[in-house]
Amino acid sequence: MTAALRKFLQRAAVPLSLAVAALGCGRSSPPDNARLAQLERMGVDSATAIPQYTTRPFTVDERSLLRRVYGVEDPSRLYLIDESNEGVLKYDTKRKTCASCLVNSYRLGFESVRRPGESWEEAERRVKATPLRAFPESAHVGSTSTAALDPAVRGDVERMLADARAAGFEPHVVATYRSPVREAYLMRQGHRTYTLTSLHSYGRAIDIVIGDARLKREATRKEWIAFRKWVDEYHGGEFRILGTPEHSWDWRHVEVPSPDIGFRSIDAALDRARACSAPGATVPCDFKPNNCGDGTCE
Ligand SMILES: [Zn+2]
Repeated sequence: MTAALRKFLQRAAVPLSLAVAALGCGRSSPPDNARLAQLERMGVDSATAIPQYTTRPFTVDERSLLRRVYGVEDPSRLYLIDESNEGVLKYDTKRKTCASCLVNSYRLGFESVRRPGESWEEAERRVKATPLRAFPESAHVGSTSTAALDPAVRGDVERMLADARAAGFEPHVVATYRSPVREAYLMRQGHRTYTLTSLHSYGRAIDIVIGDARLKREATRKEWIAFRKWVDEYHGGEFRILGTPEHSWDWRHVEVPSPDIGFRSIDAALDRARACSAPGATVPCDFKPNNCGDGTCE
């Protein structure tokens, strides 16, 4: 491992809870640029939302493993993002070059509709070429019930929602569990998703709108930002929003990260790939759901 990569990974592995504690956040937060600077050090330039792609060199063997096991065509588009306490390894199928460019992004080690041996680029093309009518009925409707969440986090989510209401917010849950097939269906429809990998598929994410959900209405927007700040600091960072309270491509999304889902480093992903590819391997190379929500595991 190069010194630069080690430094990069160490920086990216700073637990967000520590960073949040060090910075403070929410209503008593320091200037937003301090927070953005911290996020930038953790792997993503949040001010411009351009990922710091890895500059690590890869051997031929490593490239082959990443392609075969994780569908990564070009490992130079791998990066870590602070979406869980210790970062999550992601892959972009196109290099993001500007703040307003939205690119598709995938979390390695997450269950999805990607088939064994298929690259993310190929999976995207297949999903885009699939007629909507070819998707199963179960993909058409998503769950909005907290009962469909991972039992390990359902109580925490319901408590957070009750506390939010007690604090004067008007949260409305519009999505909870989402199967990988529904995730693909939404991408095919061109709806507010730029991924096929999501904590919704683990029953660990919910989409929440505030009040009348009209983000363009100033009063609603203000309330929504206040709610996102509140969630961000709730219980020391137990819940995660995307972006900052004021800026996000996905205002609705709130998730409960798990250290057991996804990878915290490129080396961890490579170790797993070697273990599952070895002759007589007992570790599987694919990733199974730990929760089927309303029973629709496809
Ligand atoms: Zn969401």
